[in-house]
Amino acid sequence: MTQNRRFTLVRRPHGLPQPGDFAHDRVAVPIPGAGEIVIRNRYASLDPAIRGWLDDAPSYLPPVALGDPVRATTVGQVVASNDPAFAVDSWVLGLNAIEDFSLVRPGGFTMPIDPGVVPSVTNYLSVLGAVGLTAYFGLLEVGKPKPGETVLVSGAAGAVGSLVGQIAKIRGCRVVGIAGGADKCRRLVEDYGFDAAVDYRSKSVAELSRSIAAAAPHGVDVIFENVGGAVLDAGLLSLNGGARVALCGLISEYNDTGGPVGARNLWQLIVKSATISGFLISDFLPRFADGATAMAGWVAEGRLRADEHIDHGIENALPAFLRLFEGSNQGKMILALDG
Ligand code: NDP
Repeated sequence: MTQNRRFTLVRRPHGLPQPGDFAHDRVAVPIPGAGEIVIRNRYASLDPAIRGWLDDAPSYLPPVALGDPVRATTVGQVVASNDPAFAVDSWVLGLNAIEDFSLVRPGGFTMPIDPGVVPSVTNYLSVLGAVGLTAYFGLLEVGKPKPGETVLVSGAAGAVGSLVGQIAKIRGCRVVGIAGGADKCRRLVEDYGFDAAVDYRSKSVAELSRSIAAAAPHGVDVIFENVGGAVLDAGLLSLNGGARVALCGLISEYNDTGGPVGARNLWQLIVKSATISGFLISDFLPRFADGATAMAGWVAEGRLRADEHIDHGIENALPAFLRLFEGSNQGKMILALDG
């Protein structure tokens, strides 16, 4: 391949990203300078967080610059190397972009991976990558569930949520998932082993809170929150005394044009002496190896099911990304850059 195909940002989205916000271009394949490597990206992780990186707003990473390829975690192979630690043909995981070739100075986010020890190299973007570690550390270190407690998970049929529910079951909890639609709710119980599932679609906060209360008759001790808005408002009404809310994501607000919605039932935290804690997976960077070992063990034992939804072709980057906001992804959303 002599050209580098890229999916670039050309206009900052207002609300749900539109085709005119992006372009597909082709530039020369980069040449590595001293200490640099070039990676041929094979798979890109499509994460809700990318939506935040497209805005010109303060966050934990700088915004994607206009004209630049859209930032994404990728797995790929080294095709040119001026770093002896990264041999040509070896596989790497890193924070790169949706483009065929990325020029990288190894450090921080670039790490070698071994495709020989996993069923599929894409597992490094799902159960054995940031998604799996988000579920693992977010639930166990922030939610701190105890055996016999009830864990409520929103966005439960998605990449993070489905793993959270399964880890909570491994830890001996009762698990209730919230997801959109009857089919996803069926999958929560039949495929992922949740005890109960609640469909949030077409429900008011009052209706949703009644459904949650019915599914969690002893109340909720841990909320693992991926959605926010009305879903969080409803969940807060079922908290037990001393409950913990692990605030992982607020996907219902990522495309809002009217500003953040906010939780309306925060007074429940007071009357239940409950805590709410936000977290970033990077908070746990020094312990990633421990988490990955635990997750890999559960996968090998057949105790964790990790579905991946792989769309093909860099030209399909936008429709594949938008699946996250339509809810049409069935598992970790991944783009295989080749068609
Ligand atoms: P998912 O695989 O869960 O896909 C997103 C899902 O969110 C969709 O399938 C859809 O499911 C649901 N959704 C989309 N829009 C809405 C809406 N308006 N209201 C309710 N549900 C909606 O994505 P991930 O597992 O990758 O991410 C899940 C969450 O975890 C996100 O909030 C993300 O930002 C967060 N996250 C946080 C990290 C951290 O470090 N704190 C790290 C990684 C992820 P449905 O059909 O059920 O509506």
